[in-house]
Amino acid sequence: MSTFPFDTQSELNGNVLSRFYIDGQWVLPSARETVKLVAPSTGHAFARVPLADTGDVDKAVDAARTAFDTGPWPRMSGVERAACLRRMSTALASRMRTLSRIWTAEVGAPVWFADMFVPTATAMLDYYAELASTFAFQETRPTRAGEARIIRQPVGVTALIAPWNAQLPILSYKLGAALAAGCTVVIKAPPETPFDALVVAECAHEAGLPPGVLNVITADAERGAHLVAKREVDKVSFTGSTATGKVIAKMCADRMARVTLELGGKSAAIVLDDAELNPTLAALAPFTMPFSGQICFAQTRILVPRSREQEFVDAYSAVIGCLKVGDPWDVTTQIGPLASQRQLDRVLGYIETGRKEGARITTGGGRHPQFDAGFFVEPTVFAGVTSDMTIAREEIFGPVVSILAYDDIDHAVALANNTDFGLSGTVFSSDVERAYATARRIRAGNVSVNGLEMAPNVPFGGFKQSGLGREGGPEGLNAFLEDQAIYLPANAPRRTQA
Ligand code: NAD
Repeated sequence: MSTFPFDTQSELNGNVLSRFYIDGQWVLPSARETVKLVAPSTGHAFARVPLADTGDVDKAVDAARTAFDTGPWPRMSGVERAACLRRMSTALASRMRTLSRIWTAEVGAPVWFADMFVPTATAMLDYYAELASTFAFQETRPTRAGEARIIRQPVGVTALIAPWNAQLPILSYKLGAALAAGCTVVIKAPPETPFDALVVAECAHEAGLPPGVLNVITADAERGAHLVAKREVDKVSFTGSTATGKVIAKMCADRMARVTLELGGKSAAIVLDDAELNPTLAALAPFTMPFSGQICFAQTRILVPRSREQEFVDAYSAVIGCLKVGDPWDVTTQIGPLASQRQLDRVLGYIETGRKEGARITTGGGRHPQFDAGFFVEPTVFAGVTSDMTIAREEIFGPVVSILAYDDIDHAVALANNTDFGLSGTVFSSDVERAYATARRIRAGNVSVNGLEMAPNVPFGGFKQSGLGREGGPEGLNAFLEDQAIYLPANAPRRTQA
């Protein structure tokens, strides 16, 4: 039986519970529509929050447009914006416990997992504050007739849209870069996870961000589409499914709005024939189904040499079979529930398809028998998987991993690349340079050797249908900038210095 020790009334501010943040103020939604939040660990509703209508979306966009066109933010120096970002980061740091608890309440992330990854938000704001204070927003190059000044202008009003699974960390990549660049933003929080972005708004307010620079509404897909379609929005930064990413890309193409897309994945872990079993399992297993597999970079296809297939299947299945599934609020729980009934139905559907298509279940395989409430599924491993099977091709977004056998290294690389996705990957070997050589052959945006790492100063993003553009690092800042070149003649009179 799971608990639910999260009382919204005592843990969250009244503004966060019932209002949107627009133009520097907490405003009542114009809509009457509300949505119920359901605790994944119990299946019971625990809050009801407002959803935006098109009028709320329009107000948020108007505020961001005015702040961009006439407000101080885009005109400040990088150093001035950095100071504000640092104050926001400090305000966020003081709310880490609340933000972690929100994550567990909204989507059932186990507390150890939420505690570990919530600090990503301050790390990203701190990183972009540092970058903003040193970045060359302007440079001069000589030309035949004089010089050109290249100005890295903020791209304008931006719509930031992130999914329910890891709302705060994903948002912080976008927000840090957008604000560092001098953009103004409208955050559209998803109906499943409304609180994270509204707490960020509290922090922006506390940090003294000028009115209209950051606006937060909670809205469904239809109102999200209304936001994306608005001509006052210059750029959309979207993280979510590949299907929605394609819809958004088409809408943006209509008016050439800039767009960055972080989409789905079906990442492969290649275990080379010289990889030692136990260190490989220790480094790989946590990334195969982190947060019940509801993370885009989960290593959901494990490729093992045919000669070691049985050894690996037995050992990996034993590790997964021993994971403690349970109440996400219990610090000893390793795997919590899925986020929603929709997720549960989806994952059980894929398990059934895997079975029908002839893959062999070595552990798990259904709804968790220990829980009669909540959205618990057994961590599941399929062996004997071939790359034409649905479970090897489609993103399941649940604790379901496929093991595929390969004959030689070329076959392993071909299997890894035999997917429409290209987000992440890992290679395991006792020879790091051999692993590196293999990593370079994987058509994916991020590949790690003997583990999995992500760092604020390193670009993250996908090849192929895993996305377009990059977040993180200077590449992530560039995604919120437009290069403007201004040519000046050499011998014209000047009264002021550049
Ligand atoms: P989703 O595409 O259904 O929704 C994502 C967000 O888009 C939500 O806020 C939703 O309200 C909004 N939305 C939906 N339709 C829209 C439209 N037409 N216009 C504007 N907004 C719209 O995805 P999801 O189910 O919430 O999230 C899971 C997916 O996200 C998985 O595919 C996962 O791989 C992907 N993801 C990718 C990354 C990455 O960095 N590449 C990170 C996390 C999750």
